[in-house]
Amino acid sequence: MCGIFAYLNYNVNRERRYILQVLFNGLRRLEYRGYDSAGIAIDSDPKALPQRSSASDSDPPPIVFRQEGNIESLVKSVYQDVAKLELSMEASFSTHAGIAHTRWATHGEPAPRNSHPQSSGAGNEFLVVHNGVITNYEVLKETLIRHGYTFESETDTEVIPKLAKYVYDKANEAAGGQVVTFSQVVLEVMRHLEGAYALIFKSSHYPNELIACKRGSPLLLGVKVS
Ligand code: GLU
Repeated sequence: MCGIFAYLNYNVNRERRYILQVLFNGLRRLEYRGYDSAGIAIDSDPKALPQRSSASDSDPPPIVFRQEGNIESLVKSVYQDVAKLELSMEASFSTHAGIAHTRWATHGEPAPRNSHPQSSGAGNEFLVVHNGVITNYEVLKETLIRHGYTFESETDTEVIPKLAKYVYDKANEAAGGQVVTFSQVVLEVMRHLEGAYALIFKSSHYPNELIACKRGSPLLLGVKVS
């Protein structure tokens, strides 16, 4: 069965190798029925603190890995891509926000472009993993296309990150700066969505934050304090 999983470590140093393992194990625990593809998004290497002007504009965008097939195919391709991208497995993160997904396609064939996380576009400003179906996605897609958005997948899900970017840009344009919180963006997006869903959002504009929300689908939140 399709499933969403996220992992946020906060104020505790973890290497990328460990973070990837947590995400893969989260997906493996959801692996009790059929699914056709899988994907994850992880943070890029953070820049050294003295080079930063602000939290959101200095770090490179999150990195997305998507693969058709089972979780072990994803694991294999992630390790290959990590090597190609020359990302260090030993890179250490004191805060890290990762999201993961196993997909059971409802809209669009199983293929990397239709796998999740789905993205708002270049730069991965907003990324979403989704369990469920958005029943009014066609009308949302038409509206977003009219506003200049181009779509890469056939999924119902892709409207969600694109709508988040639209809401974010509109709010900030009007105010002339970043005024909305991540949860305000997500609440506004939810107002437009019909159907059943559990979602996790990740955004380059809100590093070190994830937003989870649901309507209809189940979602569990676990907190570990060490
Ligand atoms: N409807 C979405 C899709 O087809 C999500 C399916 C799922 O819950 O895995 O991509």
